[in-house]
Amino acid sequence: MIEKWIKRHPQWFAELRYDIEAGHTGWDELIDAALMTVEDVKPENSFRIVQIKEKFGLLTIHTFHDEGMPDEVSDQISAIFARARQQSAHICEICSAPARVGADQGCMSVRCASCSPQGWVSS
Ligand SMILES: [Zn+2]
Repeated sequence: MIEKWIKRHPQWFAELRYDIEAGHTGWDELIDAALMTVEDVKPENSFRIVQIKEKFGLLTIHTFHDEGMPDEVSDQISAIFARARQQSAHICEICSAPARVGADQGCMSVRCASCSPQGWVSS
């Protein structure tokens, strides 16, 4: 899924670290929708998505831009990824079914009932 975006905007992803575990495709649509919205905002050339990862169980997207980017553009982009992060709390990271945030021995994740490992407890 991300490959299509790298092809479409190679400059956005020149320094990307994609740290979503292999086979965990539940957030693909969420990431896809967020990137489509970013495309509408039309960030300039200095814009980079430097990391896409799961942090404390949730989808976390780190970006970079230089000081030339207008505040309203960078604010819009921050808002888009903040919204995606909130939405990720309800979508199974593995299969995209409705899910909850929980933890397995202190390690947080968003899982539906069928993808939650033994010992996983929703919070
Ligand atoms: Zn699942």
